[in-house]
Amino acid sequence: MRDIINGFLRFQREVFPKRRELFKKLASKQSPMTLFISCSDSRMVPELVTQSDPGNLFVIRNAGNIVPSFGPEPGGVSATVEYAVAALKVRDIVVCGHSNCGAMTAVATCACLDHMPAVRKWLRHSDAARMINEAQAHTDEQARIDGMVRENVKAQLNNIRTHPSVALALAQKSLTLHGWVYDIESGSIDALDTDTDCFVPLAEHRAARP
Ligand SMILES: [Zn+2]
Repeated sequence: MRDIINGFLRFQREVFPKRRELFKKLASKQSPMTLFISCSDSRMVPELVTQSDPGNLFVIRNAGNIVPSFGPEPGGVSATVEYAVAALKVRDIVVCGHSNCGAMTAVATCACLDHMPAVRKWLRHSDAARMINEAQAHTDEQARIDGMVRENVKAQLNNIRTHPSVALALAQKSLTLHGWVYDIESGSIDALDTDTDCFVPLAEHRAARP
């Protein structure tokens, strides 16, 4: 905890004064263009890997970068998606998984989660991805886990389309969905190509072209 407090004191002393104008502008309103949905994993830092300033990204983070399908009893993720799309009018939504994800490893390896009942229940939102991944041939355990991470991103993009605010914005062509997978060791990102349903390096993805 000492490191965190010292970090804040350094921010207050050294960083904040240099960005004073930005924070003054942000004090009364925000207008982020992107909703970024990623895992809570400490190694994946959305603002760092996208080099985004405060005010740029509206962020949802949870175990497994999961978006439950819309239902009669919407929860916190659904409310946050709805606010981002209907009130803030974000133009893009990125669902970003990552390598070596603990949540997806548990799903892919059918780990016993009896001692973590909330996690076990939460990860049921990845059932469609698990079924698809299990039906595929994998060379080894690592490939099975990597496949699960990718299928989960696709499944959560499907889930988010069930949200009324998202469905409306997509129909009005005012919103675009993106699926990414961040590799912790190499610092690279693969992006889903919706035409081929395959992941390609983000630098080569058509979204990266000017
Ligand atoms: Zn994770």
